[in-house]
Amino acid sequence: SSNRKVQNVAVLGATGSIGTATAEVITHLNQTDTESEWRMWAASGHRNLDGLMQIAAAADPGPQWLVMSDPESAKTFADTRKDLIASNNLTGIRLDYGSDALIEVAQHPEVDVVVAAIVGRAGLESTLAAVEAGKRVALANKETLVVAGPLVRRAMQASGAEILPVDSEHSAIFQCMGPATIAGSDCPAPKPKKLILTASGGPFRTWSKQQMQSATIESALDHPTWDMGPKITIDSATMMNKALEIIEARWLFDLPADAIEVVIHPQSIIHSMVEFDDGSVLAQLSPPDMKLPIQYALTYPRRLPCASPGLDRGRQWDLTLEVADLERFPGLALGFEVAAAGGTAGAVVNAANEEAVGLFLDGQIRFTDIVSGCRDVLANHTHESDPPLARLLELDRWARLETRNRFKL
Ligand code: NAD
Ligand code: MG
Repeated sequence: SSNRKVQNVAVLGATGSIGTATAEVITHLNQTDTESEWRMWAASGHRNLDGLMQIAAAADPGPQWLVMSDPESAKTFADTRKDLIASNNLTGIRLDYGSDALIEVAQHPEVDVVVAAIVGRAGLESTLAAVEAGKRVALANKETLVVAGPLVRRAMQASGAEILPVDSEHSAIFQCMGPATIAGSDCPAPKPKKLILTASGGPFRTWSKQQMQSATIESALDHPTWDMGPKITIDSATMMNKALEIIEARWLFDLPADAIEVVIHPQSIIHSMVEFDDGSVLAQLSPPDMKLPIQYALTYPRRLPCASPGLDRGRQWDLTLEVADLERFPGLALGFEVAAAGGTAGAVVNAANEEAVGLFLDGQIRFTDIVSGCRDVLANHTHESDPPLARLLELDRWARLETRNRFKL
């Protein structure tokens, strides 16, 4: 109804796994939230204009601004865009091409919340722009913090932006730590002693090193508990996803690397835990469904009924915890090292990983080459402790080339 407060949401990466789940959350909130009226005000895709238009057409109220971040799509859809707009009943909608428009959207005065759901380093500029503009940022794009954690923190402190984690582990930690930790409040929460990130262990949790050497693309893409985009699914199989999450946690919660632990929890029900000085450990539990952490990032500090199913107490649950094996999963050890090193290390490892994942998905390198490639490229760079953004982006490009060179590609 009309006296609800309007919340305009910009969904960057709307055509992806998180973006699609966000659209569902917004639809659901509009049916249940009596305080706010939720609008997908803007949405972006990279190359899939058809998919973006379908998302826009299904939203009610629908967006007024669409962005295709790949500038090439201006040519690709030059002939079909008018028909697509008409057939999706989107006449009058604004459609821009290229990544500059992402930044314009992220900083637009009418936008209240930016959902940063672009995959990889490509999400950095728009996420940082939203933080600089003082928005509430629902952060799925962990790579931004991996590449430029200290710069994002500084921008947040300068602008008063709120960064609410969407990554399920970080949302769990945020929920366990109490309200004062990220958003700021008058009631300081106790500082945690340890952050305990849970990891499903991915499809190769029980595989030997030797088995992993000949892992196929299909088996690596077959995640046991989560349905996600291809890049993060491969990251989960190498456990580089957990490595990126260690680094993400280091910057998001401003704790040193040695305050972060990883435990294997194959059922993906316990999304992470926090230990306090007295030894008390708090955990957050829910079925593996991203709609809960997405919604919490939007409605925080409010909790509203969620479209994801609750934890079924009518059945027996076997929730197990296992010690993480840093031998079989060397990416984990790398994650701790990079989180401790800070500076340029995150940008280099992130770029090497993105490149290597692409090469693996193209069938050009072996599964185990991904992490060894990251380690080699990191070792080949000269560490700097407080790099500016331009240097980080330069190193990102260098690390991608270096990764290809390592495999003579
Ligand atoms: P996805 O591949 O399903 O979607 C990625 C989105 O980014 C798409 O909308 C795509 O069009 C867009 N995109 C791709 N390349 C781009 C580029 N160069 N420039 C601009 N946009 C581009 O990925 P996803 O699984 O939704 O993951 C998105 C982010 O959320 C990642 O950072 C991932 O680590 C994080 N995340 C995802 C999940 C999950 O369950 N999927 C969970 C936690 C965190
Ligand atoms: Mg996660």
